[in-house]
This record gives sequence, C-alpha cells and structure tokens, in this order.
Amino acid sequence: MPGTELFGLEEKKEINDVLETGILFRYNHDHLRNNIWKAKEFEAEVCKFIGSNYAHAVSSGSTAVATALAAAGIGAGDEVIVPPFTYIATIEAVLFVGALPVFADIDETLCLSAEGIRKVITPKTKGICLVHMCGGMADMDSIMEVCNEHNLTLVEDAGQAMGASYKGTKVGLFGKTGCYSFDFFKIATCGEGGVLVTNDEKAYRAADSYADHGHDHIGNNRGMENHPILGFNYRISELHAAIGLAQMRKVPTIMEANNKNKAYLVSKLKDIEGLGFAKLADPSGDSATFLNLLFQDQETAANFVASMNEAGVGGFNYWFTNMYHFINQWNHIKEMKTASKLAIEVLGAPQDYNNLSIPNAQNVIGRLVSFGIRCTWTTEELDTLIENIKIHANKAVMQMA
Ligand SMILES: *Cc1c(COP(=O)(O)O)cnc(C)c1O
Repeated sequence: MPGTELFGLEEKKEINDVLETGILFRYNHDHLRNNIWKAKEFEAEVCKFIGSNYAHAVSSGSTAVATALAAAGIGAGDEVIVPPFTYIATIEAVLFVGALPVFADIDETLCLSAEGIRKVITPKTKGICLVHMCGGMADMDSIMEVCNEHNLTLVEDAGQAMGASYKGTKVGLFGKTGCYSFDFFKIATCGEGGVLVTNDEKAYRAADSYADHGHDHIGNNRGMENHPILGFNYRISELHAAIGLAQMRKVPTIMEANNKNKAYLVSKLKDIEGLGFAKLADPSGDSATFLNLLFQDQETAANFVASMNEAGVGGFNYWFTNMYHFINQWNHIKEMKTASKLAIEVLGAPQDYNNLSIPNAQNVIGRLVSFGIRCTWTTEELDTLIENIKIHANKAVMQMA
C-alpha cells in the first residue's frame, strides 16, 4: 500500500489549509473559504495525471463505481458483465444500481477476457464493468473490439490500478466512465475516497449531480439550485480531498519506485523452474503495486503458501482461499442474502451463481500468489524477500515432483 508509506508534511499542509478556514464542505461558502477548494484541486490533479477531460471525487471507490455505472446509463434490469475476481465492491455497485451481474471468465491478465465476455453476451447485455486487477490491465484491444461489435457500454473499475496504462492510454479512460479508489490500501490514499473520470461531458454532468442529491451546482445559492436528476450523497469532504491532492502529486514517484522494485524482483525470480508471472497486456504500463506469481498448478501454489506460512513469511495474498476477492468465497451472493430486497430478487438472476462455467478463473486464481510491492523497500529487504520466495517456491515445486 504505497500511498500510506509516503504520508508526510505535504498531506499535513493541505489539511491545514482546510482547518484554517473551517469550511469542510466542498461547495459554496465562497466568502468564508479564502479561495480554498481542495476537492476541485484534487479533481484537476487527477485530470492532469490521467489525461481525462473530467474527474469527479466522491466518498469512496465503491461509490465511485456506483456513480460510474449510473452516469454511464446502467440501471435497473440491465445485464452487466463482471469478473469473478475483483474486490466485492464492483458486484455490490452493480446490484445496488438495480442491475444484474453476469459473471464471465478471466485469463492470465487476471482480468475479464474477450473470449469469456463473448460467451455470456445475451440480447439483454447492456454493458461491462471491467476491473483492472492487481495493478495491471486488461487486454484492451480485444475487449474494445467486443464492446464495439455488440454496442456494449464499458465502465472501468480501475479501483486498484490507478496509473496503469495500455498502449499509452491510462486505464479508466477506455470506457464511457472509469473510476479509482483512494482507500487506505491503494497506490494513493485519502483515508476514504474515490474518483470518477470521463471524457464525456454528459456523463460527467450526470455524475456530478448523482453524487450530490441531483444538484446542478450552478450559481452560489445551494438552496435555490436546480436538480435535473435524482441523486444521493456520495460527496467527498474537503479534508479527505486535501489528503488526496497531496497523495496524487506523489503517484509518479511511487510508480517509478514500484516499477524499479518489481523489475529487480522479476529479474531475480524469473529463472525458477515451475514459476511464472501473471500476464501484463502492456508490460510498459504496469502500476507495479503487486508482484503476481503464477505457479504451474493449484497444488504447487498451495504448497508454497503453506510453506511460507510455516516459516512465518508474510506480505502475500492467496486470493483463492485466503481473501475475499474471489467468487468461491461470496456465499452471500450465491445465497442472495440481503438486508432488504434488491431489484435482482424481483427480476430474477440472469445466471445460476452456484453453477458458473469459469474454468480459467478457477485455474488461474488457484495458481496465483500476489505480493504487495512497497515503494520504500531497501535492497536488503528486497533480497530477503527474493531469498524467501526462492526457498519456498523450490520446496513447493519439489514436493510435486
Ligand atoms: C478497493 C476497490 C474498490 C472499492 O474501493 P473503496 O474505496 O474501498 O470503496 C472497488 N473496486 C476495486 C477493484 C477495488 O480494488
């Protein structure tokens, strides 16, 4: 979680600007705020870095996904293709805008594959909520081809891949809308926060209103503003935005350090027999927040994990069984356990979530062990990690021989 590693004076300075005025609200109060507009500055910084025409900051990555879906026109009864490997927020957002998740298979990029998407398209498919997982990126040429062929609306959940790019374009900019998370674990954090990006003015206007009770934000009398649409409160506070602003400015430095550390790790681990890496659709566009090891089979990966645990080596994720990012763990979806009735319970699920055909996902996630990369690692720490991976990977491979 690199963002938090570099928390320092810059963040404190930005927060202090807000505390000096006491205006924690992002809108209005023009005469009291001494021209301090942190949410706006944060958004401008994201636009500059991502290369988007518009950015809109909200209260979390989860609300950013919901806003991105709504702003792209995805809602009740729409079938939306989603991956079975993602942070659960993606699926929750689809469900809570009233849409119907349709799970498709992934490939070694750890993201949805065009082939997997094609297999689950129906006349009711409205769009795809594509997730760029573990700091990498989906294979965008083939995915854009399916979208164009079937006229599907693409929304990108780049929650954990801000900064990653594909052939020179940042992830989040391929779809009608895209979004990033700034929670505590991401490449840049503001505690809790998220940002939606788009190049589509209409989608931006919709997002801007949707995330603030439908307000059009025109004029300087909030009470008399117009409300072109219904919305809700997904606003970010000025305090959170202030931290996000300081963190955003550090992302290029973090990415450079991450990539340097990852290149070193890969150079020392690439010759281990039976061990490979997840595929990067564009190796030069990695945000490098994760080192993603791919073992030859699930048993070897499980042996590696057991061996690492036994030796007390931490810092890795075995998503297949030990995290909440894979569908095998999502019993609440399979059993449709909800606090109150969702649209999907009235309309009917488009798939039997207990009997999905996602063989590649079962295979790839079973073989995947990911290490979060730190931008502040020393060479000594890197060498210790390399040694540990070597010892336990060799042991795991030997056990299978
Ligand atoms: C972290 C994450 C989210 C949710 O973000 P929060 O800020 O924690 O709400 C959504 N999607 C993906 C892919 C994520 O990694």
